[in-house]
Amino acid sequence: MLKAGYTRTRKAFTGLNSSSRRSIATDTKKEEAKPQTLDFLPFALPDTGEEEIEEVADSIRSGWLTTGPKTRKFEQDFAEFLGGGIECLAVNSATSGLHLALDAVGIGNGDEVITTPYTFTATAEVIRYLGAHPVFIDIDPRTFNLNPTLIEAAVTKRTKAILPVHFGGLACDMESIVDIAHRYNLRIIEDAAHALPTTCNSLLVGTLPSDATVFSFYATKTLATGEGGMLVTKNPDIAARCRVMRLHGIDRDAFDRYTSCKPAWYYEVIAPGFKYNMTDLAASIGIHQLKKVYQFQRRREAIAEAYHTGLSDLPVMLPPYPPDGEIHAWHLYVIRLTDSAPVSRDRFIELMSQMGIGTSVHFIPLILQPYWRDTYNLKECDFPNAVDCYKRAVSLPIYSRMSNDDVLRVIKAVRTILE
Ligand SMILES: *Cc1c(COP(=O)(O)O)cnc(C)c1O
Repeated sequence: MLKAGYTRTRKAFTGLNSSSRRSIATDTKKEEAKPQTLDFLPFALPDTGEEEIEEVADSIRSGWLTTGPKTRKFEQDFAEFLGGGIECLAVNSATSGLHLALDAVGIGNGDEVITTPYTFTATAEVIRYLGAHPVFIDIDPRTFNLNPTLIEAAVTKRTKAILPVHFGGLACDMESIVDIAHRYNLRIIEDAAHALPTTCNSLLVGTLPSDATVFSFYATKTLATGEGGMLVTKNPDIAARCRVMRLHGIDRDAFDRYTSCKPAWYYEVIAPGFKYNMTDLAASIGIHQLKKVYQFQRRREAIAEAYHTGLSDLPVMLPPYPPDGEIHAWHLYVIRLTDSAPVSRDRFIELMSQMGIGTSVHFIPLILQPYWRDTYNLKECDFPNAVDCYKRAVSLPIYSRMSNDDVLRVIKAVRTILE
Protein backbone atom coordinates (compact mmCIF):
# COMPACT_ATOMS: atom_id res chain seq x y z
CA MET A 1 0.00 0.00 0.00
CA LEU A 2 1.38 3.37 -0.96
CA LYS A 3 0.64 6.19 1.43
CA ALA A 4 -1.79 8.65 -0.15
CA GLY A 5 0.76 11.46 0.07
CA TYR A 6 3.35 9.46 -1.85
CA THR A 7 0.95 8.73 -4.68
CA ARG A 8 0.06 12.39 -4.96
CA THR A 9 3.73 13.44 -4.99
CA ARG A 10 4.56 11.09 -7.82
CA LYS A 11 1.68 12.44 -9.87
CA ALA A 12 2.70 16.02 -9.11
CA PHE A 13 6.30 15.46 -10.26
CA THR A 14 5.49 14.43 -13.81
CA GLY A 15 6.25 17.12 -16.36
CA LEU A 16 7.47 19.77 -13.93
CA ASN A 17 10.78 21.69 -14.08
CA SER A 18 13.23 21.57 -11.19
CA SER A 19 12.20 24.83 -9.49
CA SER A 20 8.52 23.99 -9.32
CA ARG A 21 9.55 20.51 -8.24
CA ARG A 22 11.19 22.01 -5.14
CA SER A 23 8.07 23.90 -4.14
CA ILE A 24 5.91 20.81 -4.58
CA ALA A 25 8.39 18.87 -2.45
CA THR A 26 7.93 21.43 0.34
CA ASP A 27 4.15 21.14 0.07
CA THR A 28 4.45 17.41 0.31
CA LYS A 29 6.37 17.70 3.58
CA LYS A 30 3.53 19.73 5.04
CA GLU A 31 1.07 17.15 3.82
CA GLU A 32 2.98 14.32 5.41
CA ALA A 33 3.00 16.10 8.77
CA LYS A 34 -0.81 16.00 8.86
CA PRO A 35 -2.45 13.03 10.57
CA GLN A 36 -2.90 10.34 7.96
CA THR A 37 -6.62 9.91 8.46
CA LEU A 38 -7.17 9.89 4.71
CA ASP A 39 -5.09 6.74 4.18
CA PHE A 40 -7.28 3.89 3.03
CA LEU A 41 -7.35 0.96 5.42
CA PRO A 42 -7.46 -2.08 3.15
CA PHE A 43 -9.77 -4.98 3.90
CA ALA A 44 -6.86 -7.43 4.03
CA LEU A 45 -3.06 -7.38 3.91
CA PRO A 46 -0.54 -10.22 4.18
CA ASP A 47 1.90 -10.04 7.10
CA THR A 48 5.32 -10.83 5.65
CA GLY A 49 8.72 -9.75 6.94
CA GLU A 50 12.39 -9.81 6.01
CA GLU A 51 12.59 -13.56 6.79
CA GLU A 52 10.23 -14.36 3.92
CA ILE A 53 12.12 -12.02 1.56
CA GLU A 54 15.48 -13.54 2.51
CA GLU A 55 14.20 -17.10 2.06
CA VAL A 56 12.76 -16.33 -1.39
CA ALA A 57 16.03 -14.63 -2.36
CA ASP A 58 17.91 -17.70 -1.13
CA SER A 59 15.80 -19.92 -3.40
CA ILE A 60 16.40 -17.68 -6.37
CA ARG A 61 20.15 -17.65 -5.71
CA SER A 62 20.14 -21.44 -5.32
CA GLY A 63 18.71 -21.88 -8.82
CA TRP A 64 15.91 -24.13 -7.53
CA LEU A 65 12.68 -22.28 -8.28
CA THR A 66 10.02 -24.95 -8.48
CA THR A 67 9.14 -27.92 -6.24
CA GLY A 68 12.28 -28.89 -4.37
CA PRO A 69 13.97 -28.69 -0.95
CA LYS A 70 11.94 -25.70 0.33
CA THR A 71 8.64 -27.34 -0.56
CA ARG A 72 9.81 -30.52 1.17
CA LYS A 73 10.77 -28.54 4.29
CA PHE A 74 7.46 -26.68 4.28
CA GLU A 75 5.60 -30.00 4.13
CA GLN A 76 7.70 -31.43 6.96
CA ASP A 77 7.23 -28.33 9.09
CA PHE A 78 3.49 -28.42 8.44
CA ALA A 79 3.33 -32.09 9.46
CA GLU A 80 5.21 -31.25 12.64
CA PHE A 81 2.86 -28.33 13.28
CA LEU A 82 -0.18 -30.63 13.06
CA GLY A 83 1.52 -33.56 14.80
CA GLY A 84 0.46 -37.19 14.81
CA GLY A 85 1.72 -38.78 11.59
CA ILE A 86 -0.13 -36.60 9.10
CA GLU A 87 1.01 -36.59 5.49
CA CYS A 88 1.20 -33.08 4.03
CA LEU A 89 1.23 -32.32 0.31
CA ALA A 90 1.92 -28.77 -0.80
CA VAL A 91 -0.11 -27.68 -3.80
CA ASN A 92 -0.51 -24.50 -5.83
CA SER A 93 -3.96 -23.65 -4.40
CA ALA A 94 -6.64 -24.97 -2.10
CA THR A 95 -8.81 -25.39 -5.17
CA SER A 96 -6.34 -27.88 -6.64
CA GLY A 97 -5.97 -29.58 -3.25
CA LEU A 98 -9.73 -30.08 -3.00
CA HIS A 99 -9.82 -31.41 -6.55
CA LEU A 100 -7.03 -33.90 -5.76
CA ALA A 101 -8.69 -35.02 -2.53
CA LEU A 102 -12.08 -35.64 -4.14
CA ASP A 103 -10.39 -37.54 -6.96
CA ALA A 104 -8.39 -39.61 -4.47
CA VAL A 105 -11.48 -40.76 -2.55
CA GLY A 106 -13.01 -41.83 -5.86
CA ILE A 107 -15.60 -39.14 -6.53
CA GLY A 108 -16.68 -39.44 -10.15
CA ASN A 109 -19.38 -38.99 -12.74
CA GLY A 110 -22.89 -38.65 -11.31
CA ASP A 111 -21.84 -38.86 -7.66
CA GLU A 112 -23.23 -36.40 -5.13
CA VAL A 113 -21.30 -34.41 -2.55
CA ILE A 114 -23.15 -32.61 0.24
CA THR A 115 -21.81 -29.14 0.91
CA THR A 116 -22.67 -25.62 1.99
CA PRO A 117 -23.84 -22.81 -0.29
CA TYR A 118 -22.25 -20.27 2.07
CA THR A 119 -18.76 -20.48 0.58
CA PHE A 120 -16.54 -19.48 -2.29
CA THR A 121 -17.34 -21.09 -5.62
CA ALA A 122 -14.08 -23.13 -5.50
CA THR A 123 -15.62 -25.44 -2.88
CA ALA A 124 -18.31 -26.57 -5.31
CA GLU A 125 -16.55 -26.21 -8.66
CA VAL A 126 -14.06 -28.97 -7.83
CA ILE A 127 -17.00 -31.36 -7.48
CA ARG A 128 -18.06 -30.48 -11.03
CA TYR A 129 -14.47 -30.99 -12.30
CA LEU A 130 -15.06 -34.69 -11.64
CA GLY A 131 -18.52 -34.80 -13.19
CA ALA A 132 -20.13 -35.08 -9.75
CA HIS A 133 -22.85 -32.81 -8.33
CA PRO A 134 -22.86 -30.61 -5.24
CA VAL A 135 -25.95 -30.98 -3.08
CA PHE A 136 -26.36 -27.76 -1.13
CA ILE A 137 -27.97 -27.71 2.30
CA ASP A 138 -28.82 -24.64 4.36
CA ILE A 139 -26.57 -23.25 7.08
CA ASP A 140 -26.86 -22.81 10.81
CA PRO A 141 -27.77 -19.12 11.08
CA ARG A 142 -25.69 -18.73 14.24
CA THR A 143 -22.35 -19.96 12.86
CA PHE A 144 -22.72 -19.71 9.03
CA ASN A 145 -21.55 -23.36 8.91
CA LEU A 146 -23.54 -26.12 7.24
CA ASN A 147 -26.31 -27.39 9.48
CA PRO A 148 -25.61 -31.08 10.23
CA THR A 149 -29.26 -31.78 11.09
CA LEU A 150 -30.07 -31.25 7.38
CA ILE A 151 -27.49 -33.73 6.06
CA GLU A 152 -29.42 -36.98 6.46
CA ALA A 153 -32.41 -35.74 4.48
CA ALA A 154 -30.05 -34.87 1.61
CA VAL A 155 -28.39 -38.30 1.44
CA THR A 156 -29.31 -40.41 -1.62
CA LYS A 157 -27.91 -43.60 -3.16
CA ARG A 158 -25.49 -41.43 -5.11
CA THR A 159 -24.11 -39.51 -2.13
CA LYS A 160 -20.41 -40.22 -1.72
CA ALA A 161 -19.00 -37.45 0.46
CA ILE A 162 -19.57 -34.44 2.70
CA LEU A 163 -17.53 -31.30 2.05
CA PRO A 164 -17.82 -28.97 5.06
CA VAL A 165 -16.28 -25.47 5.19
CA HIS A 166 -15.12 -24.06 8.54
CA PHE A 167 -16.56 -20.63 7.81
CA GLY A 168 -14.43 -17.70 8.88
CA GLY A 169 -12.22 -20.00 10.95
CA LEU A 170 -14.88 -21.38 13.31
CA ALA A 171 -14.97 -25.18 13.24
CA CYS A 172 -18.07 -26.97 11.97
CA ASP A 173 -19.88 -29.43 14.24
CA MET A 174 -17.51 -32.18 13.13
CA GLU A 175 -18.73 -34.67 15.72
CA SER A 176 -22.16 -34.78 14.07
CA ILE A 177 -20.69 -34.77 10.56
CA VAL A 178 -18.31 -37.67 11.35
CA ASP A 179 -21.16 -39.62 12.96
CA ILE A 180 -23.42 -39.24 9.91
CA ALA A 181 -20.55 -40.05 7.54
CA HIS A 182 -19.86 -43.29 9.41
CA ARG A 183 -23.52 -44.33 9.40
CA TYR A 184 -23.94 -43.72 5.66
CA ASN A 185 -20.42 -44.71 4.62
CA LEU A 186 -19.59 -41.27 3.26
CA ARG A 187 -16.18 -39.68 2.82
CA ILE A 188 -15.33 -36.34 4.44
CA ILE A 189 -13.12 -33.74 2.74
CA GLU A 190 -12.74 -30.56 4.82
CA ASP A 191 -12.38 -27.18 3.14
CA ALA A 192 -10.13 -25.57 5.75
CA ALA A 193 -9.29 -22.51 3.65
CA HIS A 194 -10.21 -20.33 6.67
CA ALA A 195 -9.22 -22.69 9.45
CA LEU A 196 -5.53 -22.29 10.27
CA PRO A 197 -5.24 -22.53 13.21
CA THR A 198 -8.67 -23.77 14.32
CA THR A 199 -9.53 -26.46 16.85
CA CYS A 200 -12.53 -28.72 17.25
CA ASN A 201 -12.80 -30.79 20.45
CA SER A 202 -9.27 -29.58 21.28
CA LEU A 203 -7.87 -31.05 18.04
CA LEU A 204 -6.40 -28.90 15.29
CA VAL A 205 -8.39 -28.92 12.06
CA GLY A 206 -6.22 -31.11 9.85
CA THR A 207 -5.98 -33.85 12.49
CA LEU A 208 -9.71 -34.65 12.73
CA PRO A 209 -11.14 -38.01 11.61
CA SER A 210 -11.86 -37.01 8.01
CA ASP A 211 -10.35 -38.37 4.80
CA ALA A 212 -8.47 -35.21 3.87
CA THR A 213 -8.31 -31.55 4.81
CA VAL A 214 -7.22 -28.70 2.55
CA PHE A 215 -5.79 -25.32 3.63
CA SER A 216 -5.44 -22.23 1.41
CA PHE A 217 -2.44 -19.92 1.34
CA TYR A 218 -4.04 -17.38 -1.00
CA ALA A 219 -2.83 -13.81 -0.39
CA THR A 220 -5.67 -12.91 2.00
CA LYS A 221 -5.68 -16.09 4.07
CA THR A 222 -4.24 -16.55 7.58
CA LEU A 223 -1.04 -18.05 6.14
CA ALA A 224 -0.22 -16.38 2.83
CA THR A 225 2.18 -17.48 0.11
CA GLY A 226 0.42 -15.56 -2.68
CA GLU A 227 -1.02 -18.69 -4.20
CA GLY A 228 -0.75 -22.06 -2.51
CA GLY A 229 -2.41 -24.71 -0.42
CA MET A 230 -1.76 -27.80 1.70
CA LEU A 231 -3.59 -31.09 1.44
CA VAL A 232 -3.26 -33.15 4.62
CA THR A 233 -4.39 -36.69 5.28
CA LYS A 234 -3.73 -39.61 7.62
CA ASN A 235 -4.63 -42.07 4.87
CA PRO A 236 -1.50 -43.30 3.02
CA ASP A 237 -3.51 -44.40 -0.04
CA ILE A 238 -5.05 -40.96 -0.44
CA ALA A 239 -1.63 -39.37 0.03
CA ALA A 240 -0.06 -41.64 -2.58
CA ARG A 241 -2.77 -40.95 -5.16
CA CYS A 242 -2.64 -37.19 -4.56
CA ARG A 243 1.17 -37.17 -4.79
CA VAL A 244 1.00 -38.77 -8.23
CA MET A 245 -1.94 -36.70 -9.52
CA ARG A 246 -0.38 -33.48 -8.23
CA LEU A 247 2.32 -33.71 -10.90
CA HIS A 248 1.03 -35.07 -14.22
CA GLY A 249 0.38 -38.58 -12.91
CA ILE A 250 4.14 -39.11 -12.70
CA ASP A 251 5.15 -41.58 -10.02
CA ARG A 252 7.69 -39.31 -8.28
CA ASP A 253 8.33 -35.59 -8.24
CA ALA A 254 11.19 -33.66 -9.80
CA PHE A 255 13.15 -33.50 -6.57
CA ASP A 256 13.17 -37.29 -6.24
CA ARG A 257 14.27 -37.61 -9.82
CA TYR A 258 17.36 -35.57 -9.18
CA THR A 259 18.27 -37.05 -5.83
CA SER A 260 17.39 -40.76 -5.92
CA CYS A 261 19.68 -43.43 -7.32
CA LYS A 262 17.50 -44.16 -10.38
CA PRO A 263 18.65 -42.44 -13.57
CA ALA A 264 17.57 -38.81 -13.50
CA TRP A 265 15.83 -38.92 -16.87
CA TYR A 266 13.50 -41.84 -16.09
CA TYR A 267 9.89 -41.50 -14.99
CA GLU A 268 6.60 -43.29 -15.46
CA VAL A 269 3.20 -41.79 -16.17
CA ILE A 270 0.49 -43.86 -14.53
CA ALA A 271 -2.52 -41.51 -14.91
CA PRO A 272 -3.54 -38.29 -16.71
CA GLY A 273 -2.65 -36.08 -13.74
CA PHE A 274 -2.66 -32.36 -13.08
CA LYS A 275 -0.12 -29.55 -12.68
CA TYR A 276 -0.78 -28.70 -9.05
CA ASN A 277 2.66 -28.67 -7.41
CA MET A 278 3.84 -25.81 -5.18
CA THR A 279 6.92 -23.79 -6.17
CA ASP A 280 9.88 -23.41 -3.82
CA LEU A 281 9.35 -19.64 -4.04
CA ALA A 282 5.90 -20.00 -2.46
CA ALA A 283 7.17 -22.61 0.02
CA SER A 284 9.95 -20.19 1.08
CA ILE A 285 7.28 -17.73 2.19
CA GLY A 286 5.21 -20.50 3.79
CA ILE A 287 8.08 -21.81 5.96
CA HIS A 288 8.30 -18.48 7.78
CA GLN A 289 4.57 -17.75 7.78
CA LEU A 290 3.98 -21.06 9.53
CA LYS A 291 6.27 -20.08 12.43
CA LYS A 292 4.05 -17.04 13.05
CA VAL A 293 0.66 -18.73 12.73
CA TYR A 294 -0.20 -18.58 16.45
CA GLN A 295 1.23 -15.10 16.85
CA PHE A 296 -0.97 -13.89 13.97
CA GLN A 297 -3.98 -15.74 15.41
CA ARG A 298 -3.55 -14.10 18.84
CA ARG A 299 -3.47 -10.69 17.20
CA ARG A 300 -6.65 -11.40 15.20
CA GLU A 301 -8.31 -12.75 18.34
CA ALA A 302 -7.45 -9.51 20.17
CA ILE A 303 -8.97 -7.52 17.29
CA ALA A 304 -12.12 -9.69 17.45
CA GLU A 305 -12.35 -9.00 21.19
CA ALA A 306 -11.96 -5.27 20.60
CA TYR A 307 -14.76 -5.40 18.02
CA HIS A 308 -16.97 -7.41 20.38
CA THR A 309 -16.51 -4.84 23.14
CA GLY A 310 -16.73 -1.83 20.85
CA LEU A 311 -19.78 -2.87 18.82
CA SER A 312 -21.93 -4.95 21.19
CA ASP A 313 -24.53 -2.23 21.87
CA LEU A 314 -25.18 -1.48 18.16
CA PRO A 315 -27.98 -2.89 15.95
CA VAL A 316 -25.72 -5.68 14.70
CA MET A 317 -25.36 -9.38 15.32
CA LEU A 318 -21.74 -10.18 16.18
CA PRO A 319 -20.05 -13.41 15.08
CA PRO A 320 -20.13 -16.21 17.68
CA TYR A 321 -17.18 -17.10 19.86
CA PRO A 322 -15.97 -20.71 19.67
CA PRO A 323 -16.86 -23.12 22.49
CA ASP A 324 -14.76 -22.68 25.66
CA GLY A 325 -11.13 -23.64 25.16
CA GLU A 326 -11.34 -23.93 21.36
CA ILE A 327 -9.30 -21.86 18.89
CA HIS A 328 -11.09 -19.73 16.29
CA ALA A 329 -8.76 -18.74 13.44
CA TRP A 330 -10.66 -15.43 13.05
CA HIS A 331 -9.92 -15.32 9.34
CA LEU A 332 -13.16 -13.33 9.01
CA TYR A 333 -15.11 -11.07 11.34
CA VAL A 334 -18.62 -10.92 9.90
CA ILE A 335 -21.21 -8.64 11.47
CA ARG A 336 -24.86 -8.74 10.44
CA LEU A 337 -27.02 -5.60 10.40
CA THR A 338 -30.31 -6.16 12.23
CA ASP A 339 -33.68 -4.78 11.14
CA SER A 340 -33.24 -1.78 13.42
CA ALA A 341 -30.02 -0.63 11.71
CA PRO A 342 -30.50 2.90 10.31
CA VAL A 343 -28.94 2.05 6.91
CA SER A 344 -29.01 -0.86 4.49
CA ARG A 345 -26.06 -3.25 4.24
CA ASP A 346 -25.07 -1.88 0.83
CA ARG A 347 -25.22 1.72 2.08
CA PHE A 348 -23.18 0.72 5.14
CA ILE A 349 -20.40 -0.60 2.88
CA GLU A 350 -20.47 2.62 0.83
CA LEU A 351 -20.21 4.79 3.93
CA MET A 352 -17.35 2.71 5.35
CA SER A 353 -15.54 3.11 2.05
CA GLN A 354 -16.12 6.89 2.13
CA MET A 355 -14.51 6.87 5.58
CA GLY A 356 -11.52 5.08 4.06
CA ILE A 357 -12.18 1.59 5.36
CA GLY A 358 -12.25 -1.50 3.17
CA THR A 359 -14.90 -4.11 3.92
CA SER A 360 -16.16 -7.15 2.04
CA VAL A 361 -19.08 -9.58 1.88
CA HIS A 362 -18.58 -13.27 2.68
CA PHE A 363 -20.17 -14.81 0.81
CA ILE A 364 -22.65 -14.34 -2.00
CA PRO A 365 -24.24 -17.78 -1.46
CA LEU A 366 -23.71 -20.12 -4.38
CA ILE A 367 -27.45 -20.67 -4.70
CA LEU A 368 -27.68 -17.04 -5.92
CA GLN A 369 -24.90 -17.40 -8.51
CA PRO A 370 -26.21 -17.86 -12.06
CA TYR A 371 -24.30 -21.06 -12.82
CA TRP A 372 -25.26 -22.90 -9.62
CA ARG A 373 -28.78 -21.49 -9.46
CA ASP A 374 -29.61 -22.39 -13.07
CA THR A 375 -27.79 -25.71 -13.29
CA TYR A 376 -29.48 -27.10 -10.19
CA ASN A 377 -32.68 -25.04 -10.31
CA LEU A 378 -32.06 -23.72 -6.80
CA LYS A 379 -34.70 -21.66 -5.00
CA GLU A 380 -33.97 -19.02 -2.38
CA CYS A 381 -36.87 -20.27 -0.28
CA ASP A 382 -35.04 -23.56 0.33
CA PHE A 383 -32.07 -21.73 1.86
CA PRO A 384 -33.66 -19.10 4.13
CA ASN A 385 -30.69 -18.88 6.50
CA ALA A 386 -28.03 -18.51 3.80
CA VAL A 387 -30.09 -15.81 2.07
CA ASP A 388 -30.82 -13.91 5.28
CA CYS A 389 -27.18 -14.04 6.45
CA TYR A 390 -25.98 -12.83 3.07
CA LYS A 391 -28.36 -9.84 3.01
CA ARG A 392 -27.10 -8.60 6.38
CA ALA A 393 -23.43 -9.61 6.31
CA VAL A 394 -20.41 -7.32 6.21
CA SER A 395 -16.85 -8.51 6.85
CA LEU A 396 -14.73 -6.01 8.80
CA PRO A 397 -10.94 -5.90 8.37
CA ILE A 398 -9.17 -8.35 10.73
CA TYR A 399 -5.48 -8.98 10.10
CA SER A 400 -2.32 -8.93 12.16
CA ARG A 401 -0.84 -5.84 10.52
CA MET A 402 -3.70 -3.66 11.78
CA SER A 403 -2.53 -1.28 14.50
CA ASN A 404 -4.61 -0.54 17.60
CA ASP A 405 -5.41 2.81 16.00
CA ASP A 406 -6.68 1.03 12.87
CA VAL A 407 -8.97 -1.12 15.03
CA LEU A 408 -10.30 1.93 16.90
CA ARG A 409 -10.82 3.67 13.58
CA VAL A 410 -12.98 0.79 12.33
CA ILE A 411 -15.01 0.73 15.56
CA LYS A 412 -15.50 4.50 15.40
CA ALA A 413 -16.62 4.36 11.78
CA VAL A 414 -19.11 1.54 12.42
CA ARG A 415 -20.46 3.45 15.45
CA THR A 416 -20.78 6.69 13.45
CA ILE A 417 -22.92 4.92 10.86
CA LEU A 418 -25.03 2.75 13.16
CA GLU A 419 -25.48 4.76 16.36
C1 LIG B 1 -10.07 -19.03 -0.63
C2 LIG B 1 -11.00 -20.16 -0.57
C3 LIG B 1 -10.84 -21.31 -1.37
C4 LIG B 1 -9.86 -21.38 -2.49
O1 LIG B 1 -8.57 -21.19 -2.09
P1 LIG B 1 -7.43 -21.02 -3.24
O2 LIG B 1 -6.16 -21.30 -2.48
O3 LIG B 1 -7.52 -19.61 -3.70
O4 LIG B 1 -7.71 -22.00 -4.29
C5 LIG B 1 -11.66 -22.39 -1.16
N1 LIG B 1 -12.64 -22.34 -0.23
C6 LIG B 1 -12.84 -21.26 0.54
C7 LIG B 1 -13.93 -21.29 1.56
C8 LIG B 1 -12.05 -20.12 0.38
O5 LIG B 1 -12.29 -19.03 1.10
